[in-house]
Amino acid sequence: MVRQTIQIFARVKPPVRKQQPGIYSIDEDEKVTSSLEIILPRDLADGFVNNKRESYRFKFQRIFDQDANQETIFENIAKPVAESVLAGYNGTIFAYGQTGSGKTFTITGGAERYSDRGIIPRTLSYIFEQLQKDSSKIYTTHISYLEIYNECGYDLLDPRHEASSLEDLPRVTILEDPEQNIHLKNLSLHQATTEEEALNLLFLGDTNRMIAETPMNQASTRSHCIFTIHLSSKEPGSATVRHAKLHLVDLAGSERVAKTGVGGQLLTEAKYINLSLHYLEQVIIALSEKHRSHIPYRNSMMTSVLRDSLGGNCMTTMIATLSLEKRNIDESISTCRFAQRVALIKNEAILNEEIDPRLMIIRLQKEIQELKDELAIVTGEQRTEALTEAELLQLEKLITSFLEDQDPESRLEVGADMRKIHHCFHHLKKLLNDKKILGNDTVSSESKDQDCQEPLKEEEYKKLRDILKQRDNEINILVNMLKKEKKKAQDALHLSSMDRSEFRHSQNSPFPPGNPEEGQRLLLSSAPTQAQDFSTSGCRSSLLYRKTGMTEEMSLGRQEAFEIFKRDHADSVTIDDNKQILKQRFSEAKALGESINEARRTIGHLKEEITQRHIQQVALGISENTAVPSTPDLQEERLRSQLEEEKRRYKTMFTRLKALKVEIEHLQLLMDKAKVKLQKEFEAWWAEEASNLQVKSPAVNSLDHMKPFPQTSEAQHDQSQILFNKSGVYARKTLPCPCPNPRSQEQSRISTPLGNSIPERPMSSVPLTGDSQTDSDILAFIKARQSILQKKCLGSN
Ligand code: ADP
Ligand code: MG
Repeated sequence: MVRQTIQIFARVKPPVRKQQPGIYSIDEDEKVTSSLEIILPRDLADGFVNNKRESYRFKFQRIFDQDANQETIFENIAKPVAESVLAGYNGTIFAYGQTGSGKTFTITGGAERYSDRGIIPRTLSYIFEQLQKDSSKIYTTHISYLEIYNECGYDLLDPRHEASSLEDLPRVTILEDPEQNIHLKNLSLHQATTEEEALNLLFLGDTNRMIAETPMNQASTRSHCIFTIHLSSKEPGSATVRHAKLHLVDLAGSERVAKTGVGGQLLTEAKYINLSLHYLEQVIIALSEKHRSHIPYRNSMMTSVLRDSLGGNCMTTMIATLSLEKRNIDESISTCRFAQRVALIKNEAILNEEIDPRLMIIRLQKEIQELKDELAIVTGEQRTEALTEAELLQLEKLITSFLEDQDPESRLEVGADMRKIHHCFHHLKKLLNDKKILGNDTVSSESKDQDCQEPLKEEEYKKLRDILKQRDNEINILVNMLKKEKKKAQDALHLSSMDRSEFRHSQNSPFPPGNPEEGQRLLLSSAPTQAQDFSTSGCRSSLLYRKTGMTEEMSLGRQEAFEIFKRDHADSVTIDDNKQILKQRFSEAKALGESINEARRTIGHLKEEITQRHIQQVALGISENTAVPSTPDLQEERLRSQLEEEKRRYKTMFTRLKALKVEIEHLQLLMDKAKVKLQKEFEAWWAEEASNLQVKSPAVNSLDHMKPFPQTSEAQHDQSQILFNKSGVYARKTLPCPCPNPRSQEQSRISTPLGNSIPERPMSSVPLTGDSQTDSDILAFIKARQSILQKKCLGSN
């Protein structure tokens, strides 16, 4: 058992814009813990009447400042937890902090760069790497992904559903058994045999989460997400199985009601916006107070699900994410205070071992049979039915191995069944009789042989002696060759085991096990399409694919509008960047694939040469009548060292190709997700435009009411902080805002309503005549054209 308090870490997010200095300081000098001092800016502190404290100090296991990268966070926070999970203990890592402070960034990762991948993908990668290395146990990995919103649980991984709102996802409910263990009904567990499969599940869940989110439910800031890796391990032949769970939790934003920070509010505990975080806090207060017998876990779904992680059988770690800017000081102080309480909670993690029920059943069935047999003997109730063919065969096998066993102590165990005992005696008798007859036969045939032998002549003796000598020579040569062959086989075995271990976990990958040619072929075939068009980046997961394949169903007008929308969307820069990176990675992978093939060919040639060399040497030995060459063959040594060098090169290239493969997959998934996001935002924008048009119809006379395309990514990221301006419209840098240019206004006036309007482009190019177009499609199409015009006129200025 491991007793440990919950470990607390802090991570400070880099500021969005330049930050005034001196808001906080980190003291790393202390040996065991570090401390964070938050200094209240004077203008804020002046507002306090009741309490004039100007700085607050909080202790953490470690504090990661703005420059800490994702790798550092993984190495220091998540890796130790992953290690204890591999050893069989439960683990939890949860991120807590206000919206925008970096919880999702820390737990899942950034949506743009590969290097920004967070704790979940890195932990998956680490765990699968370790599982591969450890061949002493049999491991099984399952993944589940739960979202809790408004006290309801949703399964993010259900592949049968195509969610367009949270309610479309399967509802997960809590069941408690008589031992008060929590079970989650309807939460699907998916086996993942490779890192790639697990990563696909993560992206599937994230995509579902994003699609299900609406401005009404704001799920990403108000819901909790629990990604769980279920790991079981068993030694071969043993009936004991170890189970461990690792929860990686992205909590809802911890913001509280009073956020003004003036009039003394700052120092009072404001109320959470999120009710289940309020219950979480209650549980934590109860746990941190001594002598509290009742812990109110049952008040909320989240505390019920995380019961073991809080004061139970689990090694738990909390990451307090802080966005230490002036306007966030009060929230940051609340986050740190919460962490200080959490640090008081003691957990007791135990190894979760149990007997495998299947093996237990086999064992018990055997015992029952033995007892039945014994009972039959004791009660004298002998069984009369004949033994089956299979039973007879089994018995005969037992007798054979008993007779072959050299151990004088060995026993023939057939159980307490008299039918079996009788059969054994019969069989033994038969064997004995057969042997006697055979023995007689051999004796008579030997004597016959001797009888017909004749004295050998002198020359025949000589001839035989020569043959003997010749055979001796031959044997020597063959022995030598055999030795060399053995060595060669060992070398080959070594190389192939190297290959196998390189490839073992890439079964479903573009590079199949031990076959770089094939990998390269696939790479080559996929490279152009992948790099040219992210929309066809494969069907890694059917759901992701389905969700990204919506464009084909669009009407022409919508398609055109979507193209413009896509081009102007802030994310398109990221997508383009990633496309470029992907292109580079593909060509690097392609080049590497070619070099690997080259290396394989060279290795093959070198081996061939070495074999040839051998044969030559042996032949030389025969001709000079010396079985083994006396001096070492320099040429062969040189070939061998060349071979070793080539193998090393091969291995290095392989490792790089493997890393590239992971990166390519990750980038593809990021791009898929970005595309789904784009599509979703477009649909929302389109629907809004269409409804605006219907309200205002038939007058589509000005661009003024047309909401620009959505906000930049930066604005999205900082949504909690920079709210929309008063008119409710957030102006984007990259987008056409209502055009001040008189020419464009004139043009927009030309584009008047349906029927009597003449779109700016000739009618022939506008698909107005198609019956399948809905009115709103046509109207929106005209709007899209207006938007193009507007951009054109902006561009010409
Ligand atoms: P939360 O999940 O807490 O609401 P996010 O993780 O979504 O916050 O972070 C908000 C924004 O800040 C995102 O754009 C994210 O990429 C960025 N961000 C957060 N933490 C970091 C960091 N440590 N380094 C760089 N960018 C960060
Ligand atoms: Mg988040």
